Amino acid sequence: MSANPKVFSAPHGPRGAQRAPQLTIGGICPGGVTRAVIRLATLLLGLVAGAAAGSDPAPSPGAGTAELLAELIRIPSVNPPGGEGAVAERIAAELAGAGLETRVIPTPRLESGDPARAAVWARLPGRGEERPLILLSHLDVVPADPAAWRRPPFAGAIEDGTVHGRGALDAKGVTAVHVSTLIALAERGRPLGRDILFLGTPDEETGGSLGANYIVQNHPELLGDAEFLLTEGGSIRPRREAIEGSQSVPPMWGVTVTEKGPCWLELKTRGTAGHGSAPRNDAAVPRLIAALDRVRRIEFPIRVLDEVASMFRALAPDAPREDRVGFASLASSLENDSSFRRRFLANPGYRALVRNTISITVLDAGSSTNVVPGEARARLDVRLLPGEDCENFVASVKDVIADPGVEVETLLSFPSRSSPSDTALFEAIEAVAHRTNPEAVVIPRMIGGFTDAHWFREREIVAYGFVPRWLGRADTGGVHGVDEKVSIANLEAGVITLLAIIDELENSASEVPEPTE
Ligand SMILES: [Zn+2]
Repeated sequence: MSANPKVFSAPHGPRGAQRAPQLTIGGICPGGVTRAVIRLATLLLGLVAGAAAGSDPAPSPGAGTAELLAELIRIPSVNPPGGEGAVAERIAAELAGAGLETRVIPTPRLESGDPARAAVWARLPGRGEERPLILLSHLDVVPADPAAWRRPPFAGAIEDGTVHGRGALDAKGVTAVHVSTLIALAERGRPLGRDILFLGTPDEETGGSLGANYIVQNHPELLGDAEFLLTEGGSIRPRREAIEGSQSVPPMWGVTVTEKGPCWLELKTRGTAGHGSAPRNDAAVPRLIAALDRVRRIEFPIRVLDEVASMFRALAPDAPREDRVGFASLASSLENDSSFRRRFLANPGYRALVRNTISITVLDAGSSTNVVPGEARARLDVRLLPGEDCENFVASVKDVIADPGVEVETLLSFPSRSSPSDTALFEAIEAVAHRTNPEAVVIPRMIGGFTDAHWFREREIVAYGFVPRWLGRADTGGVHGVDEKVSIANLEAGVITLLAIIDELENSASEVPEPTE
């Protein structure tokens, strides 16, 4: 896609090269990406000019991010088996090179012959006046089939102002932005009020129990009583211009404050094994099929959370004309307007935001047409809305199945937790959003999937899924799909915007009046 033309013309030399960022606008600059980038870059140029008056020009804080990302893409870390150890070492070297305190923490492998796994941690010490902010990302990626990609997924090509490859967005691109942000802060040489902690973990793509969870359980000292955490899960949707019949929609900064909770189940039945020519009534497979048929017919009630209602309110102006009222008042429209309800629930992504969901994903029984297997198993990917409990859910599934011969085992579950949106960090994001574009809308939202954020919410850390990058629909298709990519302009704007958010947070803290005696 050419939505993100190369905005910064400065060649991306070695990090720290004494080169002032040059802003050139070559060709057409469509969309909000470019506009926002330009505004931020102008802001930055002002800062750089002020700081560097009479001395050598300072490098752009985002320079080098694309090259680092390309390098990280080339280091294999497909999970399973992971092998994130080499990625962790590379990042530690980059951060240590800027004088930061770093640690590489070995984490467990699944099989003893697997490549080494590790997390990487770094600390930019502050003055200790405020509790730390953690920048969290993950080092593992999902597999990619080279035959389906236009460019080799693990070559880390940089072409046409874009970094291509698996992990460009999810999540090595996040890691690279966090690394550059930390290095830019370190190079200023002025400590902030709080520590900024960097954490890159393995194993996120398969649930994080051997990654973020391992760190939280075994190395709580690395979290340093953190107050806030930023990780993947939310981004900025660029402004949409008005096209026939629809109004223009301002840029939307989606800050994920909560996620659905997984309640992954395995159903198992047993029966008499035997010859396929003489079927018996107590066979395992028909029994499992009967149970699954009852499960798939479960109708879950609709429940509209505040975060979901506000998200759709913000999307209303951009919705098809017949859905605008429904989006603007989601709960009551779903209850009272049956044709809106039908249209809304026909969208699987929308449906998942207002209901618990069950996907029957794995079936496992028998291997030969003429042999009746003695056992049959199925796996269900269940996602529960915040406030629901997996144990209660299992009890109600057992009631629906109404067959004591069907065993139900929980494979993975954790409760969904929310972070409040009335915090100094949320306000800092809002302030930066409005400075970037006074029209920007900042939305606290829920996502249907889950990230590693919950391991930290469980420890009372306010965790937001938010990475400042401008992604339209065409940009996000590569996440877990083919041709994943991110523009250099987006990476550099990400660093500049994250720096602005951290500075805003710093200023809001210093505005707090001293208590009087
Ligand atoms: Zn991810």
